[in-house]
Amino acid sequence: MDKPKLAILGSTGSIGTQALEILEKADDLFHIAALSANNNYTLLAKQANRFRPETVILANTTKSAAFEEMLDYRPESIIYGNNGLDNYANEGDYDLLLNSLVGFAGFMSTYHALIRSKKVALANKESLVVGGEILTNLSAFKNGNLIPVDSEHSAMLQCLIGENQKDIGKIVITASGGPFKNYTKEEMQHVTLEDALNHPNWDMGAKITIDSSTMMNKGLEIIEAKWLFNLPVDKIEPVIHPQSIIHSIIEFVDGSSKAQLGPPDMKVPILYALTYPNRVAYPNRTLDYSERLNLEFMPVDFDRFPCLQLAIDAAKAGGFKPAILNAANEIAVERFLKREIRYIDIPKIIESSLISIESNKEITPLALQTIDRETRAFANTLLN
Ligand code: MN
Repeated sequence: MDKPKLAILGSTGSIGTQALEILEKADDLFHIAALSANNNYTLLAKQANRFRPETVILANTTKSAAFEEMLDYRPESIIYGNNGLDNYANEGDYDLLLNSLVGFAGFMSTYHALIRSKKVALANKESLVVGGEILTNLSAFKNGNLIPVDSEHSAMLQCLIGENQKDIGKIVITASGGPFKNYTKEEMQHVTLEDALNHPNWDMGAKITIDSSTMMNKGLEIIEAKWLFNLPVDKIEPVIHPQSIIHSIIEFVDGSSKAQLGPPDMKVPILYALTYPNRVAYPNRTLDYSERLNLEFMPVDFDRFPCLQLAIDAAKAGGFKPAILNAANEIAVERFLKREIRYIDIPKIIESSLISIESNKEITPLALQTIDRETRAFANTLLN
């Protein structure tokens, strides 16, 4: 039998490179049909030369000559520009799409792939945060074609195997707490970019590392879980678990709980999403019980992490609010990374955007794109 064809969008990012690291060893699992990058053409060329996909996609159009110079084979198609991803998701020849794009930019690829009843391994949590209402109404979603890569949601999915949705009492979603879990409110005022980029447990891209430090990441994940498992937001409880070993817990209506454990290594949930519902042997790191192992839990302090409260409120309000929250957060984080704003300005920008931007349109992909653009423009004008 032919190997299933895997397309990796965002192959030069943290999730993409770890997926390719797995597939380098487990080379009998997939044929790599496509790889894509935003800017990093040198790494994309190296990956393409190694895996020889038919299609390579580079968003940055100015690097085409330098990129093609580095290729040592002729792909069937080389696509440049921002529309390349959408077009590929919509027309490309693949069986499974690993969507590891960052931000709302990943939504349309998820949408096109599901419309075509393809399988999607979703690392782009923003797809569901912004467009959960649209995506979860597609028949491909109802048929189980959307598989989360996020470690917490992978844990939830694994705990729910053999269970009924109606028996879920609540989901306890764990959070490392990031680098500032023990900071006072006063200390939070003086956080620098370097402090925020230094995550204690996980090695991730810059956007998600900042999101993790503000706990917006957990907020986005609560919205992601709400759509994936069809639960009201108040049945999804965040808890600080500094060791990042228990990736989430499902508490059932009879008081029994199931948790999923593993070392804080994204390769485990990446492999699971790619091979779901099967398990494939792979030499991932495992937990070492020959040494003392503590598992701690602490309540979340919403007062010190206002981004998390904003996300929960946006999720409860529904409509376009999560899309506005997400767009404002993307801009706020981008501007913090460029040192244009202070750390404590991030929630301020998000809150102002949520108050100022409104829409009573029907939620469609086009309406989401409009509100996303509007919010970005607005969030860029704040605190200038
Ligand atoms: Mn996560």
